[in-house]
Amino acid sequence: MSELPASRAIGVVGAGTMGAGIAQVAAAAGHEVYLFDVREGAAQDGLTRIRKGLEKPVQRGRMTAEQAETICRRIHPAAELQALSPCALVVEAVVEDLAVKQKLFADLESICAPDTLLATNTSSISITAIGAALQRPENLLGMHFFNPAPVLRLVEIVSGAATARQAADTAFDTAAAWGKFPVHARSTPGFIVNRVARPFYAEALRVLEEGGSDVATLDALLRDCGGFRMGPFELMDLIGHDVNYAVTNSVFAGHYYDPRFLPSLLQKELVEGGLLGRKSGRGFHDYREGASPPAPREAPPGPPPGPCVAAGDLGPAEGLVSALKARGVAVERRDGPGVLRLGELTLALTDGRLATQRRRDDGLERLVVFDLARDYGELSRIALAPADGTPDADLSAACGLFQALGAAVSVLDDVPGLLVMRTVCMLVNEGADAVNQSVCTAEGCDTAMRYGLNYPEGPLAWGSRLGVARVAHVLDNLAQVYGLDRYRVSPLLRRHAITGQPLVTDD
Ligand code: NAD
Repeated sequence: MSELPASRAIGVVGAGTMGAGIAQVAAAAGHEVYLFDVREGAAQDGLTRIRKGLEKPVQRGRMTAEQAETICRRIHPAAELQALSPCALVVEAVVEDLAVKQKLFADLESICAPDTLLATNTSSISITAIGAALQRPENLLGMHFFNPAPVLRLVEIVSGAATARQAADTAFDTAAAWGKFPVHARSTPGFIVNRVARPFYAEALRVLEEGGSDVATLDALLRDCGGFRMGPFELMDLIGHDVNYAVTNSVFAGHYYDPRFLPSLLQKELVEGGLLGRKSGRGFHDYREGASPPAPREAPPGPPPGPCVAAGDLGPAEGLVSALKARGVAVERRDGPGVLRLGELTLALTDGRLATQRRRDDGLERLVVFDLARDYGELSRIALAPADGTPDADLSAACGLFQALGAAVSVLDDVPGLLVMRTVCMLVNEGADAVNQSVCTAEGCDTAMRYGLNYPEGPLAWGSRLGVARVAHVLDNLAQVYGLDRYRVSPLLRRHAITGQPLVTDD
């Protein structure tokens, strides 16, 4: 381990949202911290906010008042940048502007010792580009904390082309000593989290644009059925559409307009209309006083299910069989393509085709497809879509079967891959592509998504559990339905789909 000892001072430049949080993290780990901001009084204001923020953990008994005071006492608002001269590491969290950051680091190079580590908290600027203006770019790296820095445990340790491995390793070990989960990343647009997360928003936006369902239903599905902490629309509303849309655009432009990252016209419209989300009172949801949140769509109760046939291995949906049996539904096992049969009706996990296309391709009379769930044994909501031509009574029977498991049923229009399946497959693909392009390791990708965004499981572990070949098959079908390069399978995913090797083994 090469972490900086707690006896070495840390500098933080910029005392806004992120800088104050980072200063608190370093002080809590025992370092003396020098906090500088170009705006007079801002560093002192930052310290006041830290002190206020620490009241909550004290009230909740998570730390003593004395511990909180010790943290605050270690943070020294600095009147001049010069005060940061003894620091072993300086982290900047100033305005997101290349020229400002370059000038700041050039000044720090002349103030600090030659071996001082210089770190930027930038979310979107190339580390290599910032380093281009420096005499010692080998000492510069990204330490990308997430908001709120004292709470979220991920730190992306980002190396530019000139960053020395030793510098990145020291920053990594230091972040770990601060109680964080650091992950190495190569400086590429969006680094890990902001790149791999794009499909979480983009697929839901597409389904909405195509009239698959409404905002409340799609949010509820990714939450209740997919196991994500928040739905994509409520999360975009919380982040702010201006910020979220800007990140998408910067990742899109940064990848030379790869259609995988294509921004959404719907989100652009919200930004242009000033409907920025919670902060402006309206986004996809309405937060104004008196507004009541719309309820997700739910199908009326269907008939209780009669005996079913599990024809073949249901793969990721196998949990349905034991869940049905546990509710007293008779399920007979037979050979078959991996579907459930309820009388004349076939129920199948979506494979990325339109249900209507699958009904024709597979010569089925009546077909209802269902979505991927994180746990079919603990199902609280599921999406279904009937193939065109399937009688209403069959859809109602399908609803009754899932309702017998205690799940609310939301019927979507016949969109390919429904919602959770296509979102998860695209997250897996993006994670695999980041690994394929040496942005991060497979384990690093999963750690980043779990601790940066609280995903219930790392995408690569999730994809391995689903079966990599299945993920590739869903994506191939989506690519075929849409005719878009957007759904192309990453070469790494393709290789694993062929060999059957999981994408990650030690989650
Ligand atoms: P902020 O606006 O809250 O704070 C920026 C602070 O920097 C302000 O107090 C400003 O006075 C100060 N400042 C500006 N130029 C300066 C200079 N030349 N020298 C010293 N101080 C200067 O911004 P923030 O949200 O804390 O973001 C800071 C950085 O962190 C940006 O690069 C941003 O992209 C990145 N970031 C932000 C978040 C987030 O969620 N807010 C998350 C990760 C990374």
